[in-house]
Amino acid sequence: MAHRIAVIAGDGIGTEVMPEGIRALEATAKRFNIDLEFTTFEFGSCDYYLEHGKMLPDDWFEQLKGFDALFYGAVGWPEKVPDHISLWGSLLQFRRQFDQYINLRPCKLMPGIKSPLAGRAPGDIDFYVVRENTEGEYSSIGGKMFEGTEREIVIQETVMSRTGVDRVLKYAFDLAQTRPRKKLTSATKSNGISITMPYWDERVAEMAKQYPEIAVDKFHIDILTANFVLHPDWFDVVVGSNLFGDILSDLGPACTGTIGIAPSANINPEGKFPSLFEPVHGSAPDIAGKGIANPIGQIWSGAMMLEHLGHKEAADAMVEAIEAVLGEGDSQVLTRDVGGQGTTVSLGNAIAERIGG
Ligand code: ATP
Ligand code: MG
Repeated sequence: MAHRIAVIAGDGIGTEVMPEGIRALEATAKRFNIDLEFTTFEFGSCDYYLEHGKMLPDDWFEQLKGFDALFYGAVGWPEKVPDHISLWGSLLQFRRQFDQYINLRPCKLMPGIKSPLAGRAPGDIDFYVVRENTEGEYSSIGGKMFEGTEREIVIQETVMSRTGVDRVLKYAFDLAQTRPRKKLTSATKSNGISITMPYWDERVAEMAKQYPEIAVDKFHIDILTANFVLHPDWFDVVVGSNLFGDILSDLGPACTGTIGIAPSANINPEGKFPSLFEPVHGSAPDIAGKGIANPIGQIWSGAMMLEHLGHKEAADAMVEAIEAVLGEGDSQVLTRDVGGQGTTVSLGNAIAERIGG
C-alpha cells in the first residue's frame, strides 16, 4: 500500500528545497521499491495568508489527518506577515493538534563540513536530541499580580505530567536501544529547580530499570551545554524537557556546521496522527529566490520520514548518499554555504543520482 505524504513547501527557500527533497525521495522509492504518493497543499504559507487572511483553511485537520506523514519546507516571511501569525497559524497548530510530542534532531558531523568546534572530525559528533514538545516550561499557566506597581509579580508555571514525562522518556530509551552505543543522557537542573526537575530525574531512574542494557547519565543543563561544545563525543541520545530540549536542539546542530544541512522531526510515535518532517532552517528570506539554498536539510528530513514509515535501510541509503556527495567536495555541485559554487538543483541532483545507485 502506498504511503500517503502531504507536502507543504511553505515560504521562501522552503519552495526551493522541497522539490529536491521529493526528487531524492522518489529516487529512493524507486531503488527500494517503496510506494510513495505525494499530495501538495498551498496552505501553510504566507502567500496563502495574504490571500485568505489565515494560514490554514478551517478544515485543515480533516484534510491532513489521514496522511501517513507531513513533509514540510519552511514557514515565515516577516516582512509581509509577523512571525507570531505565520508560525502559530501553521506549524505549531500541527504540532499541537496532531500531538507530535517528540521533537527529534540528529546532530551528526558530515564529511567535508567544518565544525565550529576546533579539531572535530566526522565520527566525533553523532547523537540525537529528543525534546519534549507539549508541556513542561511552555505552559500558559500563570499571570501577573499588582500590575503597574512596584510590587508587580509575574509567574509562569512548569507543568510535568507523569504521562507527558514518561512518554518522551520511553521514546528516548527506545531510540537509545537501537543505537550501537546504547547511551542515554538526561538534561536536568534538579540542584536549582526543586520540584519539577527532581520529578523528571525520578522518572528517568524509574524508566532506566526497564532498560538495563542502556547506560544512563544526567547533567545539569548549564554544564551539559558546556559539554556539548567541549565533549560532543560523549553523547548518543540526549533527552530534555521542552525548554532544555529547545536549547539543546539548536546548540547540537550548530556544533555540526551549517544550518542548511540539519533535519528535524515532530513525531506522534503511536501513529494516531501524522508526524511532520522539516529542515531545521527557516525560510531564509535573504537568500530566497536565488537558487542557492542548500537542499540537504530537506532531503535528510525525507530520510527521517522514511525511517519513521518503517524503511530504515532506504533512509540509511539516503544519508549515505548525502555523506558521499559532501565527502567528494565537488565545488561545481556543492552550494555556497558548504564551500561550493553550485546551486540547490545541482546539489539535489547529485544526491538523487547517488541514491539511484
Ligand atoms: P526562522 O525565522 O524560521 O529561524 P530565518 O528566515 O531566520 O528562519 P534561518 O533558517 O534561521 O532563517 O537561517 C538563518 C540564515 O542561515 C539565513 O538567513 C541564511 O542566510 C542561512 N541559511 C538558512 N538555511 C539555509 C540553507 N538551506 N542554505 C544556505 N543557507 C541557509
Ligand atoms: Mg531565524
